[in-house]
Amino acid sequence: MFLDLDCTLCRLSEKRTHVVPPAGDLYSPVLFIGEAPGEKEDMKAVPFVGKAGRMLDRILAEEGLKRGSIMITNTVKCRPPANRRPTQEETMACSPYLECELRDRQLVVALGKTAAESLLQTKLTLKDCANQTFSLMVNGQKIDLIPTYHPSACLFNLTAREGLKETIKIVKARFPDL
Ligand code: URA
Repeated sequence: MFLDLDCTLCRLSEKRTHVVPPAGDLYSPVLFIGEAPGEKEDMKAVPFVGKAGRMLDRILAEEGLKRGSIMITNTVKCRPPANRRPTQEETMACSPYLECELRDRQLVVALGKTAAESLLQTKLTLKDCANQTFSLMVNGQKIDLIPTYHPSACLFNLTAREGLKETIKIVKARFPDL
């Protein structure tokens, strides 16, 4: 399903400024998925352009992975009030958009617990599963999924930062041209 920039599939539409569509190379084999837009993203209609986005940019640059060569999106496309976690209903309502974005990808990086749990449909602890490879079936097609730490956690947690750096190294090793 193509993203509707006037979407009203859930109540996040009542308080958002903009629906935030995916950014980067929309044909990339690699898709990074965050949780939900924050204040800056809601204003600019671009994912990961606030503090967490700057941290992501910094780690991508350190590891030589070009932001423009990957596709970046969120589990839900509208900002939850006060940046709370999206509810299961909101995640479900937005899932047809995410399913469309997953199509034809080879590798998905789930940035944080919300994205990883929603894709794998199970509760998990990042400490136990960060940087492991899981399989996701999308329309009969197998996609590798790597859960990792959210860039916002990397702002104050060194373990998270090292974990996300390791993820980017894994992506770069598998896709050296990106
Ligand atoms: N956090 C997210 O999960 N996504 C964004 O786009 C920004 C911050």
